[in-house]
Amino acid sequence: MELIRGNKTMTQDTSSDGFVYLVGAGPGDPSYITLRAVQCLSQADIVLYDYLVNPRILQHVRPGVECVCMGRHGVGKIWKQDEINAECLRLAQQGLHVVRLKGGDPAIFGRTAEEVTALDAAGIPYEIVPGITAAFASGTCVGIPLTHRDKASAVALITGHEQTGKDESAIDYGVLAQFPGTLVFYMGVTTSRHWTSQLLEHGMAPSTPVAIVRKISFPDQVTLRCTLEEVTSKFEGDNRLRPPAIVIVGDVVSDTSVQSWFESRPLFGQRILVTRAADQAEELAAKLSDLGAEVVLQPAIEVLAPENYDLLDEVIGRLPEMDWLVFSSGNGVRFFMNRLRECGHDTRQLTNAKIAVIGPGTAAVLEEYHLQADLMPDQYRAESLVEALSGSVGGKRVLLLRASRGRDTLQVGLQEAGAVIEQVVVYRSQDVTQLSISTQEALERGVDWITLTSSAIARSSIALLGEQIQSMKSASISPITSETARKLGFDPTVEATEHHLDGLIAAILEHQQ
Ligand code: SAH
Repeated sequence: MELIRGNKTMTQDTSSDGFVYLVGAGPGDPSYITLRAVQCLSQADIVLYDYLVNPRILQHVRPGVECVCMGRHGVGKIWKQDEINAECLRLAQQGLHVVRLKGGDPAIFGRTAEEVTALDAAGIPYEIVPGITAAFASGTCVGIPLTHRDKASAVALITGHEQTGKDESAIDYGVLAQFPGTLVFYMGVTTSRHWTSQLLEHGMAPSTPVAIVRKISFPDQVTLRCTLEEVTSKFEGDNRLRPPAIVIVGDVVSDTSVQSWFESRPLFGQRILVTRAADQAEELAAKLSDLGAEVVLQPAIEVLAPENYDLLDEVIGRLPEMDWLVFSSGNGVRFFMNRLRECGHDTRQLTNAKIAVIGPGTAAVLEEYHLQADLMPDQYRAESLVEALSGSVGGKRVLLLRASRGRDTLQVGLQEAGAVIEQVVVYRSQDVTQLSISTQEALERGVDWITLTSSAIARSSIALLGEQIQSMKSASISPITSETARKLGFDPTVEATEHHLDGLIAAILEHQQ
């Protein structure tokens, strides 16, 4: 695909000319960004991002592309504006496609003019990609529409933090106090005493309704309603609200006709540790996020290719001899199918064999290769799979495609049922032994739930988290997983009745009600 942008051609191959994309990352929710922003990120050579940007948005960059945070209080270097301008120039002059990723819309309190002036002066071409500014997400995420037929026909976006060194305020509070609509203050937390008293002095009613919204559209969004004269007290004291927050001032705040669907979602406010292997976590993470949870990804196991493929390759050559192939995980299917292809074969090699799977997750992965399972037990566990197969495997050649570790239930059970078993390791699983930085930060803030989606994951999670796991609620996918956890001194809070991801989520939801 080739995209023509002005005087610039953007192709899959990075061209030799440097280019800067000033991209809006929206208010926080990773799905509230533009398609153009995703395109730019997926073709970037380097990303310079602001601390307000939700790091999950960086999932769109290609593997190995460096993403540099321009500063966050207390963590690493905080870049000054002229340093950022200089860095953008330096990288673009090396011929790189630089994405300068900013919270919200790049042109709303985003210093875009300064960055663009520097680029113009150096003759570097650029494009500006809009984003949803924090205030404009309030109708969606808080249920406060900034305009209203009867209550507000205009909106003003105001900075609470004017440039230091300005002799005179450029803000005319006399005009703002009379403004016939909604006022939204950005960067107004530490300066609230100043701007609220200015509005009050210029005649705005102390009882004017106000909403303070912190971390809008993030899973830990906080909304607080008060009056204009109370604003300052919300930003002081031990329990004070901290930045980033916007303050919405005006009659629309008292309008309750639009409810906050965002904060009413059943898992809103719950921080959940998802411990599945990195390439398997997405489905569970997405479902929990949709229900409002804040998902922290902390793989407890790592999935790797086998040490060598000698045995698998030999068996692949003899697949037409097999009567049954048995898969006990989606990973097993993926590694097996990839290797089949790498060996120069395709699914025609499987035409003689029937296929058994342990549960719907494994069946779904099989479907990705346009293959349908011939058999799946009612209960999604090894014992039930043995039971379901035992009538049809007597004297038959059965190939178990398995992980490097795990129980031997299938092998033993099917052998007892008279099958001629061969088992081949198609992938290795290994424990993760170190917590990521984002997990450590989440632990400091408090984690509500941990998901235990297999025995191996339960075992590794308990070792990985140590004592800290005891303060979390936990959801186990099956009795076998729960038993493993209990043997290690950790009793799961809930257990899925149906042993799959939806069953696990249902158990959490039931507990939360
Ligand atoms: N370009 C950004 C604004 C940058 S100025 C935009 O268009 O949204 C930084 C200020 O924006 C913060 O101090 C805060 O007032 C506001 N802000 C940005 N993101 C926010 C969020 N998710 N929740 C609440 N306020 C936010």
